Amino acid sequence: MARYTGAVCRLCRREGVKLYLKGERCYSDKCAIDRRPYAPGQHGQGRKKISEYGLQLREKQKARRVYGVLEKQFRSYYEEAARRKGITGETLLQILESRLDNVVYRLGFAASRPEARQLVRHGHFTVNGKRVDIPSYLTKTGDVIAFSEKSQESPRVKELLEAAEGKTVLGWLERDLNAKSGRVVRFPAREEIDIPVTEQMIVELYSR
Ligand code: SF4
Repeated sequence: MARYTGAVCRLCRREGVKLYLKGERCYSDKCAIDRRPYAPGQHGQGRKKISEYGLQLREKQKARRVYGVLEKQFRSYYEEAARRKGITGETLLQILESRLDNVVYRLGFAASRPEARQLVRHGHFTVNGKRVDIPSYLTKTGDVIAFSEKSQESPRVKELLEAAEGKTVLGWLERDLNAKSGRVVRFPAREEIDIPVTEQMIVELYSR
């Protein structure tokens, strides 16, 4: 499955905000955006006047990069959101939040979304008792996501479960650390999605 494999800190510097793609490092003084708070590349520090299109494009790129989704798939999420009832921008974010890798991250079972994606790819999770290794799998209300039995022996998984104890879970999810599992209770409300994106601008971009 295709994914971005370049330097992820460049993505944060390009967007001008922390996208939290590197786990613990993002909370330390090694964070690249704290050290070099300007866009990467030769002209990163130059003055820029951004057009309306440019602003809309940046919002879309930011959302794509937060969730680690390539353009083609992102557009298909948008088209699905436009088909569904409700506010398209919010529905788009809800679809992105319901991705299995994001739910694993939101449950505190991974230090970052890229790590959650890798854990899912490597078969560490089950959904309703069946192994699912597709990070883009869209979870539904009532789905139970759990570490597979075999993965519970992994030192990294043990470390992650210990770290999860200190992390709170948002109201749209439930977590049972003893069972090493979590459940999707409902779709998240917009105020429960803390990503720094103006989703309306993404809708405007795709509606051009
Ligand atoms: Fe972004 Fe984390 Fe890198 Fe900081 S350390 S620039 S938040 S990925």
